[in-house]
Amino acid sequence: MNLLPDFRYHRPATLEEAVQLKAGSAAARFVAGGTDLLVNLRRGLGEPSDLIDLTAVAGLADIRREGDSLWLGAGVTLAELARHPEVLALSPALAEAALSVAGPTHRAAATLGGNLCQDTRCIFYNQSEWWRAANGYCLKHNGDKCHVVPKSDRCYATYHGDVAPVLMVLDGDAVVAGPDSVRRAKMTAFYCEDGGAHVNLAANEALAAVVLPPQGGRRAAYAKARIRDAIDFPLAGVAVALRRERNVIAELRVAITGTNSAPLDVSTGDLIGRVWDSDAATLLAKNLRKRANVLLTTVVGAIYRRRAMQGLARRLVDTLWEGG
Ligand code: FAD
Ligand code: SF4
Repeated sequence: MNLLPDFRYHRPATLEEAVQLKAGSAAARFVAGGTDLLVNLRRGLGEPSDLIDLTAVAGLADIRREGDSLWLGAGVTLAELARHPEVLALSPALAEAALSVAGPTHRAAATLGGNLCQDTRCIFYNQSEWWRAANGYCLKHNGDKCHVVPKSDRCYATYHGDVAPVLMVLDGDAVVAGPDSVRRAKMTAFYCEDGGAHVNLAANEALAAVVLPPQGGRRAAYAKARIRDAIDFPLAGVAVALRRERNVIAELRVAITGTNSAPLDVSTGDLIGRVWDSDAATLLAKNLRKRANVLLTTVVGAIYRRRAMQGLARRLVDTLWEGG
């Protein structure tokens, strides 16, 4: 591990101050729990001029009702997200996803905002400086070619966050604060498929919160495949929200993580109004295969991860369907 590079440290009390500070320097970075960023910096992945610590920002760690909706501040820790009564009442799947991130000591510090904005990962990137130097670096940091897709001019590093796909199927909105205004975007539009720049935030914007609408009859679940059950990123993760009316699918939302450079929603239009049976499961598997672009960015092979994703999705829909 490298020593941390030199940087100026700031601890603003408001989000307005935080985004002003960020706008003041192109090489400034936000830090929240630091469980993603600091690990990367210790590996020599980045040299920020300024670190803007968000942990003292007033109201950023609030969980509160906003009419029928639930406001989840970006500074809420994953431990708090996993045990908060309002979260458990709205969707136990969200608490489950938060609880599946890393280990208990990480979750005590790690935040919702940091989880959603965490960096993408790749076996050629999450390595020590000397390992990357010996391999000529790569497009994502310091180099000029991609070792995973050699002819590509973009990075295919994978997004491995657990919480984002659940927020997508629950129809969440991201609340984004800039220096002069606040905007909202659907969670499904918060990302783009580029391993080098996968979060749709301008340089002077911060994620303030995620707002979840009431879920009506929608029930959700999340599952992930990983190497070590006690503490690991998803090799593939699937979130599903289902509303069943009598014997047909009235609403079905599916989102995946650990497969592409961004968490992605999967099209399910051809399943609405159908009974959930093996033909429907085959259709869903086809839609998943179309959407996922699993490459060799982890030590586990792409075929296994693709199959795990399809198996998890089927199992989740089976369970939610049987649950009524
Ligand atoms: P930080 O490290 O503070 O920040 C991460 C990134 O988000 C930085 O780029 C930062 O600038 C940006 N950021 C933070 N807050 C904001 C904001 N409000 N607005 C804009 N940008 C912001 N993650 C998983 O999802 N699943 C896992 O299973 C998992 N396992 C892990 C295992 C280990 C051993 C380790 C070290 C990490 C693991 N992680 C995992 C990654 C990480 O711990 C979590 O994603 C965590 O939630 C990151 O939150 P943080 O607050 O610590 O983020
Ligand atoms: Fe580097 Fe390619 Fe991996 Fe991106 S996908 S981190 S460019 S090797």
